[in-house]
Amino acid sequence: RARVGVLALQGDVREHVRVLGRLGADVVPVRRPEELRDVHGLVLPGGESSVIDKLARAFGMRQPLREAIAAGMPVYGTCAGLILLADRITDGIQGQQTFGGLDVTVRRNAFGTQVDSFEAELEVPLFGDPPVHAAFIRAPLVIEAGETVEPLAVLPDGGIVAVRQGVLLGTAFHPEITGEHRFHELFLDSVRAA
Ligand code: GLN
Repeated sequence: RARVGVLALQGDVREHVRVLGRLGADVVPVRRPEELRDVHGLVLPGGESSVIDKLARAFGMRQPLREAIAAGMPVYGTCAGLILLADRITDGIQGQQTFGGLDVTVRRNAFGTQVDSFEAELEVPLFGDPPVHAAFIRAPLVIEAGETVEPLAVLPDGGIVAVRQGVLLGTAFHPEITGEHRFHELFLDSVRAA
């Protein structure tokens, strides 16, 4: 069984734990560097990226996380988690940092503040049918992606909302709350292969 963690500093940790458990993984919450050493893959949940960033630094998790990502640990980030995986962000709060790893620029809160949540049916060629029912909640957008980054899903206007770069996976939306399991399966596949 794949032993994976969900970074449990803030955000929708429980929803990810539930999906990964249902898919047969051995799932643990990760808050400390010791706990990170015990897992073979990590999910960065949705929530508030600036808060997760601050807590990660306060808990001494930032550097261990950066090292684990650099060492090739599979990581899947949803929404705030995608922001945290990005090498570059725009519209962060003052001093906000990311863990990095994904060669992308991500714009935080890219869909505005008034009407900041919506749902969409997304074609994901890698998965085929049915389309992904995606929930965007104060969601970010990938505004620039390096050559080694594979866009997995784009909005009708061309905005990139799901990406993969090797064992790193990121979605601007939250499959963990709409019953969509294929992104988590893809993550677990790379954990088992790693
Ligand atoms: N807007 C949030 C942030 O900047 C992300 C929202 C989410 O994870 N649903 O972190």
